[in-house]
Amino acid sequence: MTKRIFRSIFLVAIAVFLASVVLFLGVLYDYFGNVQQRGLKTQTELAAQGVQTVGAEYFEGLSPKGYRISWISADGRVLYDSEADFSEMENHLEREEIKEALESGYGESSRYSVTLMERTLYSAKRLTDGTVIRLSVAQSTLLTLLLGMTQPIVIIIVIAMGISFWLAHRLSKNITAPLNQLNLDDPLSGEGYDELSPLLRRIDAQQRQIRQQETELEQKQEEFEAVTENMAEGIILLNTKGMILGINRSAETLFGTTHACIGKHILSVNRSIEISKLLSDIPKGVRSEKIIDLNGGRYQFAASPVSENGNIFGAVLLMLDVTEKEQAEQMRREFTANVSHELKTPLHTIAGCAELLENGMVRPEDTQRFYAQIRGEAGRMISLVEDIIRLSHLDEGADDMKWERVDLYALAVQTVRSLFREAENAGVSVSVDGETAALDGVPQLLESIVFNLTDNAIKYNRQGGAVKVSVGRFEGGVRLCVADTGIGIPKELCERIFERFYRVDKSRSKELGGTGLGLSIVKHAARLHDAKIELQSAEGEGTTVTVIFPDSKENIKS
Ligand code: ADP
Repeated sequence: MTKRIFRSIFLVAIAVFLASVVLFLGVLYDYFGNVQQRGLKTQTELAAQGVQTVGAEYFEGLSPKGYRISWISADGRVLYDSEADFSEMENHLEREEIKEALESGYGESSRYSVTLMERTLYSAKRLTDGTVIRLSVAQSTLLTLLLGMTQPIVIIIVIAMGISFWLAHRLSKNITAPLNQLNLDDPLSGEGYDELSPLLRRIDAQQRQIRQQETELEQKQEEFEAVTENMAEGIILLNTKGMILGINRSAETLFGTTHACIGKHILSVNRSIEISKLLSDIPKGVRSEKIIDLNGGRYQFAASPVSENGNIFGAVLLMLDVTEKEQAEQMRREFTANVSHELKTPLHTIAGCAELLENGMVRPEDTQRFYAQIRGEAGRMISLVEDIIRLSHLDEGADDMKWERVDLYALAVQTVRSLFREAENAGVSVSVDGETAALDGVPQLLESIVFNLTDNAIKYNRQGGAVKVSVGRFEGGVRLCVADTGIGIPKELCERIFERFYRVDKSRSKELGGTGLGLSIVKHAARLHDAKIELQSAEGEGTTVTVIFPDSKENIKS
């Protein structure tokens, strides 16, 4: 701005100066031209008097300095000329000043030379005899004058330019100084030009409005971040071109990115075709959903257009981790199928036996066996249903169960005692050793842990084998250990036997009255007590299951 003002002032000053010089010279030139013309007239009148008095003799010995004198007859012939051979000169009757002098007694005119570098002033006076005396004098033209004065003019112009430059510089600085000193953050504080006041007041009002809007925007942003940052669901805000406008922590973790991705395209964060397809419906204003596998998990993606008055100006991409939900759904489906399958076999047997008995197709000596089978299958179903109920109770958190201080050793002795008959039938010796070991827990669940582990150790043992149950304390916890000398478990299946209905040898388990749920109950009950299960097994040698309970009061939940 300073430069523009400077340039304008400088150019105006120079233009005014040059115009003044030209006008001044013009006026001077005109003035001196008139003075010269008047002088020429006086000279002409003097010369006319001279010729009038003495006739042609007047010209003898005449040497007019700077003037040219001519004597012209009434018919235009040149009778005398001070500069040229008048006998060869053309007729002057058509010359303007001659014509005028012949008509009115006196005439004047001026003519430019061919080069326009010189102008000649003419003055003519008629004598009483009808002849005309004409005087002429050369006058430099304005152009000649200017050319002649080139050097001083150039010097003056240079000086004028210097002064203009300095003045323009100072003026432009002085004009812009108050503008440069304006504090736009507080426009009304400085002392600017009065003319700027309306503008400054407006800027001030607009700035206050902007500050207020900024504060509101920040507040909204903070609120939004506070809500979204702590959400388990991932959220990404996109504009219509797919550029990321906002992303919360969960989404950053899911895509392995940071806040630095804001402003970049969503495809630079994830190149998944499925996500691109999901977003392709946004311009149509259509909400779409899809389950996408990402980072080993399953996520429900929902892309919703953001619109106002029918104009779509962005999209919200919501990501929900449904891995566990899907797994639970899968497990539930499998569980239902397994339960139906497990119940079907004993029911078929019972129905078959009952039908045979009903139709009198069983020999009297066999009826007892049939009754026993019906009772056995019914018993299997009862234990299966009991196990299912226990497991679903555990699935729901077993909140209604009472936590108390339990001596695990006493509980183990009592539980193992209830299995002595089974052990005897299986030809397996069972022993319990250890020490009093109190822990916080649910007695029924602790009992089912000891029961199921010891029951398995007896069932999957060999004739003459042994089962050793031991309970011991260690720093910060209690350890329950059930070791057998049984058939063992193949290494690769050690994890799987804790799954519901999983059995290594299905027919053996069923033969022994197993439901396939015992270890699942153990796993759940242990988890509820924050206990850790360790399993060591060698095929043909035996299995040792260790449950490590933390002895902490924090576990008391009731
Ligand atoms: P089940 O009612 O069949 O015993 P569990 O859940 O208690 O069901 O056990 C699952 C499977 O794990 C059993 O069928 C068996 O094959 C295997 N198993 C459990 N405990 C032992 C053990 N002590 N020795 C050998 N195999 C075992």
